[in-house]
Amino acid sequence: MSANRMPVLFIGHGSPMNAIELNPFSRAWIEIGRALPRPKAILCVSAHWETSGSSVTAEESPRTIYDFYGFPKELYEVSYPAPGAPDLAMQVQGMVQAPVRTDLSWGLDHGAWSVLTRLYPEANVPVVQLSLNRSLTPQQHYDLARQLRPLRDQGVLILGSGNAVHNLRIMRWGDSAYEWAEEFDRRVKGWIETRDHDALVHYERAGKEASLSIPTNEHYLPLLYALALQERDEPVRFFAEGVTLGSISMRSVLIG
Ligand code: ZN
Repeated sequence: MSANRMPVLFIGHGSPMNAIELNPFSRAWIEIGRALPRPKAILCVSAHWETSGSSVTAEESPRTIYDFYGFPKELYEVSYPAPGAPDLAMQVQGMVQAPVRTDLSWGLDHGAWSVLTRLYPEANVPVVQLSLNRSLTPQQHYDLARQLRPLRDQGVLILGSGNAVHNLRIMRWGDSAYEWAEEFDRRVKGWIETRDHDALVHYERAGKEASLSIPTNEHYLPLLYALALQERDEPVRFFAEGVTLGSISMRSVLIG
């Protein structure tokens, strides 16, 4: 194992309010940010950027995107002025076997910045986002992520931001979680602990609990990106967990 290999993170991001509200989740993100080695750059795969084909952001100064509605004014006043890293974007293009377009308009969506503002509040680590290509299967996403492995040895932190269980249509205020949501979250935890990546990739085999937990898979896929980067003997640790709003798993994973 390389002493200089960067860990990999998956953060269950939940509500954008976690960017400004202190709660057990946002506190856990702050702590993990302090514990991690300082990366040279961050490559983020967010649930909130789906494209046809693959894209990577290549702006010098990505803008903060407010890609949500109806939240308090305070949230729209947060900005995350981290620099971009066009050189890293080019490297990603060269590393991934399939074509990857450079994007000069996206910026940083809230899947990225609501988490990064906790991990690296000074916004001084360059950030690049890699989109979720809508036409890929979960297995193809997993295989694409594996092609990014060399970046870990170059000091790049790869960050997946989504939620292992995410069903907004039936979410409910208050903290009582649906039984199927807790059950599927437990299964995901077990598969991660036993390194059963095949079960994680083919989550739909888990039946009804999986289809309720993952009605659309954009929030789940960033978890596969993180796990695909796990080396054989690397430990995993859950630094946040719990199902909020009935149907959102906040499970967060540190690999390495
Ligand atoms: Zn989200």
